[in-house]
Amino acid sequence: MSSHIETQCIHGNNDFSYNDPTRAVSFPIFQTATFGHIGLGKSSGFDYTREKNPTRQHLEETVSVLEGAVDTVAFSSGMAAISAVFELFSPGNHIICSDDLYGGVIRLFDKVACKNGMTVDFVNTADLSAAEKLIRPETRALYIETPSNPMMHVTDIRAAAALAHAHGMMLIADNTFLSPYFQNPLALGADIVVHSGSKFIAGHNDAIAGFACSAHQEIADRIRLLAKTTGGTLSPFDSWLVLRGLKTLPIRMERQQENALKVANWLRSNPKVDKVYYIGLPDFPGYDVNASQARGTGSMISFSTKDVETAHKTLQTVKMITFAESLGGTESLITYPMMQTHPDVPKERREALGITDKLLRLSVGLEAADDIIADLAQAME
Ligand SMILES: *Cc1c(COP(=O)(O)O)cnc(C)c1O
Repeated sequence: MSSHIETQCIHGNNDFSYNDPTRAVSFPIFQTATFGHIGLGKSSGFDYTREKNPTRQHLEETVSVLEGAVDTVAFSSGMAAISAVFELFSPGNHIICSDDLYGGVIRLFDKVACKNGMTVDFVNTADLSAAEKLIRPETRALYIETPSNPMMHVTDIRAAAALAHAHGMMLIADNTFLSPYFQNPLALGADIVVHSGSKFIAGHNDAIAGFACSAHQEIADRIRLLAKTTGGTLSPFDSWLVLRGLKTLPIRMERQQENALKVANWLRSNPKVDKVYYIGLPDFPGYDVNASQARGTGSMISFSTKDVETAHKTLQTVKMITFAESLGGTESLITYPMMQTHPDVPKERREALGITDKLLRLSVGLEAADDIIADLAQAME
């Protein structure tokens, strides 16, 4: 019924499978492990929380509406969601993957998927012709992040989907950086969207969660079976925290983006800064492709300083901004990708990507833009 995303973030699909007799406005937390059977061979629809729980289900239905998915499973972390998606593949399968992406996913491929007999090739998917050259008969999926982490490469989602489908492959897109408020990869042809719900979706740096959203029922059924069997589903309380965070996703995304543009422009004018990587800057490579497929540019900025000392000093002397991993929350965070998100990526691969000892990544929060800039100014001075 509700057609606008602002309304959907607050009311979900308005088709609650559980009708609370008290008409609680905030969806209740069903903090229960199990549910009584209503009769022999009869179920209330809920039997055991690992498999299904009303609070989690309400969250999953809400995220499905936001992403235009036939089904969404909420996991205990983004990595749990991505790991479950990789269980869809079999030994011998080959996957082509963006070369610049969340470090934990690179670790999953290098340490776990390979052990399970899969092979992975990494390539900059902003250049799909390079990806195409790597396709083999056993290639089953193209896995992308757009914009990518931390170098902000933008991949053309429609073209990536067309390429994947022409070769009988799936397109899997990590939509963490823009969130469903700004981008919907399923509508552009992706088959699966994964999210770290710990970032913009929950949005308050207080919960860890993940999502796998499917465009097709067949994939959705397989992911549900994997989730209930391997058990990485989201707890009722964390489901509630994410539901609470989601209500303000649109206004948070808008304001954080506004702040990010101000911060990116300030960084650009700073003589100690070498390069600013922000897809909201009109001359940044990928700006046009992003504009053709997304409704916004988000609030993730990477930048390199002219010397290592400035990078180290900035991390150690920021006051209001926290030197911490993670992103997407109300609090601005600054990280050192080389040491924090990408330490398990081999040095040569890291440096070829541009993840050097001078590169910092900033998640611009909801504080006043002037205060964020003032803090960076005093730290970089
Ligand atoms: C954080 C992150 C992940 C992993 O999610 P967790 O919730 O930390 O497990 C995956 N992809 C991207 C882009 C991320 O930023």
